[in-house]
Amino acid sequence: MIERLAIIGVGLIGGSLARALRRGKHVGEVVGFGRSLGNLQKAVDLKVIDRAAVSAADAAQGADMIVVAVPVGSMKDSFAQVAAGLADGAVVTDVGSVKGAVVDAAREVLGSRFAAFVPGHPIAGTEHSGVAASKADLFEKHRVILTPGSETDAAAVARVRAMWEAVGATVTLLPVEQHDAVLAACSHLPHMLAYALVDMLVRRDDHRLTFDLAAGGFRDFTRIAASDPVMWRDICLANATAITELLRDFRGNLDALTDAIARGDGDWLIKTFERAKHARDAYAKRRE
Ligand code: NAP
Repeated sequence: MIERLAIIGVGLIGGSLARALRRGKHVGEVVGFGRSLGNLQKAVDLKVIDRAAVSAADAAQGADMIVVAVPVGSMKDSFAQVAAGLADGAVVTDVGSVKGAVVDAAREVLGSRFAAFVPGHPIAGTEHSGVAASKADLFEKHRVILTPGSETDAAAVARVRAMWEAVGATVTLLPVEQHDAVLAACSHLPHMLAYALVDMLVRRDDHRLTFDLAAGGFRDFTRIAASDPVMWRDICLANATAITELLRDFRGNLDALTDAIARGDGDWLIKTFERAKHARDAYAKRRE
């Protein structure tokens, strides 16, 4: 049970967590802070939060659990403000999609309270953002990755784990570096490809007809290009090394594919497509 929860950034993820904890009666009071008053008022109207604070420090004051759910590039500022209002025994966690840069930022500004910081990342979401898109069941049967380090207080990890389990998630612990490498491959790279594809097609003269004729495959592949640009700019900048390495690898694979098509190498194409289909089928089966 959380007595007072502070959500810094009451959007899709922060709002969904607040809704889920309220629905299950795992929280007493929920205080929110964000950038715009309009969004915070909406959060109050939707009963996602009980009240809006005037600053992140104000939100953190008296809270026993503080969840920072702003874009990754704004985390450091939010941590600095939270540090100013942190109560004794309070736990701070985040939901950012990149962990290395966020942990560095937290270490720098949380100072002696860094041990109370538990880095987290729910592997759930949608391409929509804002509190209006938040849902109480967003995390049910989804994974949440926590990346505590050797300095992290074990009791703080246990409390953050219990919070996520209370909303139906399964918690996995990973080292920070492994999180950032694996998420670059399974999430960050696909988002880059979707953005790049849509941006390339929309700049063609026949883009209207292209989009008009596009069917389910195009919709599936490009859904994530509707994601929030600020969030994805921040993820790219914060996980630049892993993402650029993968994009270079991918470019090599695209070159090989281009060459195989150009030389009419059907065997190469069949082998490549079979290998990919086998892997995709096995993935789908494991998810059933
Ligand atoms: P979102 O819906 O846009 O919510 C972000 C919230 O943060 C907004 O309410 C925004 O306020 C507020 N905010 C932005 N900058 C701020 C600042 N400097 N100070 C205080 N509040 C600020 O985004 P989201 O999808 O929930 O993403 C939040 C975090 O979750 C990101 O770090 C992202 O990497 C991570 N994440 C996202 C997903 C996903 O699928 N979306 C999945 C897992 C993790 P306004 O509304 O007033 O602008």
